[in-house]
Order: sequence, then structure tokens, then C-alpha cells
Amino acid sequence: MTRLASQYIDHYVVSCITGCPAGQTARRKIMWDFETDKEYQKELDWTEEFVKSKVEPLDMVLGPTKEYDDPDFKRQIRPLQQEVKDRGLWACHLGPELGGLGYGQLKLALLNEILGRSRFAPVVFGCQAPDTGNAEILAHYGTEELKEEYLQPLLEGELSSSYSMTEPQGGSDPTQFVCSAVEDGDDFVINGEKWFSSSARYASFLIVMTVTDPDAAPHDRMSMFVVPTDTPGVNIIRNVGVGTEAPHEGTHAYIQYENARVPKANMLGARGEAFAVAQTRLGGGRIHHAMRSMGQIKMAFDMMCRRALSRHTKGEVLAEKQMVQDKIADSWIEMEQFRLLVLRTAWRIDKYNDYLKVRKDIAAIKALMPKVYHDIISRCIQIHGSLGVSNELPLSSMLLGAFVMGIADGPTEVHKITVARQVLRDYEGTDDLFPDYTLPNRKTDAIARFGDQIEREIENW
Ligand SMILES: Cc1cc2nc3c(=O)[nH]c(=O)nc-3n(C[C@H](O)[C@H](O)[C@H](O)COP(=O)(O)OP(=O)(O)OC[C@H]3O[C@@H](n4cnc5c(N)ncnc54)[C@H](O)[C@@H]3O)c2cc1C
Repeated sequence: MTRLASQYIDHYVVSCITGCPAGQTARRKIMWDFETDKEYQKELDWTEEFVKSKVEPLDMVLGPTKEYDDPDFKRQIRPLQQEVKDRGLWACHLGPELGGLGYGQLKLALLNEILGRSRFAPVVFGCQAPDTGNAEILAHYGTEELKEEYLQPLLEGELSSSYSMTEPQGGSDPTQFVCSAVEDGDDFVINGEKWFSSSARYASFLIVMTVTDPDAAPHDRMSMFVVPTDTPGVNIIRNVGVGTEAPHEGTHAYIQYENARVPKANMLGARGEAFAVAQTRLGGGRIHHAMRSMGQIKMAFDMMCRRALSRHTKGEVLAEKQMVQDKIADSWIEMEQFRLLVLRTAWRIDKYNDYLKVRKDIAAIKALMPKVYHDIISRCIQIHGSLGVSNELPLSSMLLGAFVMGIADGPTEVHKITVARQVLRDYEGTDDLFPDYTLPNRKTDAIARFGDQIEREIENW
């Protein structure tokens, strides 16, 4: 029976059993379903309207601040956060034990497509980087005391955090890190430098990756700590900006840890397990970035289509030009491919609840994201002409964002290596000079299997 025929019978049997029209019942039996359920769609519609009318305008009036004590920030953001909490959408991807509704990553992905359009929307909905990833680490590895002191207020949006891993001498290869934590009585004493610790200037605490066991194997040398930012010896050398940000606007801290002392109880996970702890954070963080960038990509795509339908040249609207259509078609295809990969990865995270099982998927979307983003933003700029490169549209800084995406959380090259290695695990090489899939070998194999039968059929003809 062909696959199509078996699907049809399956479909027919279900409708007979339930007595419902086939089209409706079959949906319950379908293994792959690309629709959002009606109840959640209502929440997405509410979010769409709320973000558009109340949150996106804040991007125009609030500075880059994430300073939770800033009076402007409090006045503008707190009431919105309360509305989200009342609606039940606050940090909704987290489980109830962490104050969320346990919606998981797939629903978060759909929500983040909307939130990604606005700088402040993730903060308003309690799912902003780097706090989401840091919350995951604390939830998994923190002691009860650490959870009470840092996780709860973090989830409530009362304070913010930073992740301090990269070092100035190189970020792509963590085995090169040297920032150390040495045991001293009941404490560990941290010395060394960290680079590009995002949002450290606003953070109440940092999660810091340090070398505790320099003589151990490369991946067992490091341990992770919670370090309050007001610890003596945590010195921000400077806050580095991205692109054309003015020096005072920089949010990526170059930090010197100089005899910064933390209690042993601040260690997250076991000694030497920092790589495993980091994976908990980075896996989630990477897909959350991808979800949010989907929102940005869609925003640029919408602009591109609107412009193509509005601007006339040589007697016709841009949308009539085939080279413009080519750009729109390529952009839509790439955007949809990326979106489906992100959603499937989110679905797999929910299914397995184990980031290691979805490493390949996460690395793949991390590698794909900068390319799709870059290509679609570039076409959007081109179709907008001078307006596209002007400072009256956000496109030129978004283009730089494509490069940021290809570097932050590990460069594209490293993620492609991960994808390739994971993919190759499912394959075996061969010692044969001519592999089994060459046509002569396949023919020999087929004759060995079916030769007798073929001869009989020819005789009976
Ligand atoms: C906006 C932004 C925010 C960030 N936020 C944080 C943060 O909050 N906390 C934190 O700890 N870090 C953060 N980082 C740092 C980020 O993780 C590092 O920049 C990244 O890991 C790369 O390290 P690097 O910059 O030292 O580049 P390098 O390690 O010097 O690599 C430079 C280039 O070399 C090439 N390369 C590297 N390895 C390979 C390889 N194996 N094969 C082929 N080519 C390779 C790639 O082209 C790569 O871009 C942030 C970075 C950015 C841009």
C-alpha cells in the first residue's frame, strides 16, 4: 500500500469511529500540525495589539536604560509589566514553580516573534536576555538561598543580571580562559578579566565562569559562580558600545575581577562542571535570540513589501519589477524556512526537555540566523533606496545586528562545526574503494536479492 493510500484510510477510519466529518477529525490524528490553537491565538492577538499600542512607542522615548531603579523606567514599564502579569503572560515559558505558566519554548517562540520587534517588549513580558538564560541556570543549579536571593527577584523583574564568560584574549575557545577562582577558607577568590559582559552596568549580580582546576582536563577545569556586582574587587574598566553607540551608551562591560571574594555556596553546579552549566544557559539563550530575530526579520519584510507597493518608477510600481519580485520571493522563502526551523527546534526542546538532545538544531538556527537576517535586511535597504540607508529607518543598525548575531553566543563557524559533527554521528564511512551506493554495486546487490524472481517472471512471460 502506498503511503498516501495508508494516510487516506487512517483518515477515513478516524472519521467513521467518531462520526465527525473527516476534515475535522483527521486533524487530531495528524502528526505534524502547523497551526496555533485558538485559545493561545487569542493571547497572541492581545499581545500584538498591546505591544503595538503601548510598548513599541516606548522605544522612541526611553533611552537604552535597563536601570531598574531609574524613575522613568519604573514609571513607564512597571504598569505595563503589571498588565502582562494580570493577563497571565508574565515569564509564561517558565514552569509554575518558577512563577510562570509552563507554556514552554514553542509558545514562547510564537510570543517572541511579536516581542522581538520592540526593545522593551521582552522586559515588559519578563523574558529578556540575558536574564532568561541566567534564571535557567539558577533554577537548575542554585541553592535554595541563591534562588531566594537572586532568582525570585529576577523572575519578578525587580533586578537584572549579567553573564560573564568571554575573556579579552579570545571568546570562541573557552578552554583558553584564565580568569581564576582559588579556594580560600569558606570562599573562592576571583582574579582575571572578562570582556563583553552585557548589561553588567545595570546588573545586581553576574554569573561568572572561572578556572578552579587548572590541571584538570580542558573541559573539567572551570566552575561557575554567582558574583554580586557590588562585591569589592568587581571593577568595570569600561562599557563597550556596538557600532556607532556613543562611549557613554556602551552596555558590554570589560570587567576586572581583582581579589573578588564569594562564598563557596555561590558555586553553581559541581566544581569543574561550568561547561555543562553554560550549556543550560546558552542553549536557551540562543533559541530565544532566534525567536526574537524572527520578529525583526518580519518587521523588515513587511517594510519591504509596503515600499514595493508604494513607490513608482519608470511608469510602474516597484512591485511590478521582476528584480524586486525576486527579492521579495527570496526573502519570503528564507524567512519561512528559518521560522519553521526555529519553531521545530522549540518544539523539540519542549518534547525532550534536554538541551543536549537538540544541540544540532540549536546550532543550526544559530548559524542560519545571521545569514537570513543579513540577506533580508540588505534587500529591504536596497528597495528603500536612500531612505533605507538613512538614519530615519532602523535598517543600517539592524544590518550591523546581523554581524552581532554571527558573533555573540559563539561565532557562526563554531556552530557549523557542531552541526557537522552531530550530523556525521549518524553516518559511517567505508573501507571499500567503491562504496555500496555506486550503481554497479547497487546492481550487483539487487541481482543477488531479486535475481531468481526476475528470472522466474521472465520465464512466465
Ligand atoms: C553584542 C554582543 C554581546 C555579547 N554578550 C556577551 C555576554 O553577555 N557575556 C559573554 O561572556 N560574552 C558576550 N559576548 C562575547 C561573545 O560570546 C564572543 O564575542 C564570541 O564568543 C566570540 O569571541 P571573540 O569575540 O573573542 O572572537 P574570537 O574568538 O577572537 O573569534 C574571532 C573570529 O574567528 C573566527 N573563528 C573563531 N573560532 C573559529 C573556528 N573554530 N573555526 C573557524 N573560525 C573561527 C570567527 O570568524 C570569529 O568570529 C557578546 C558579544 C557580542 C558581539
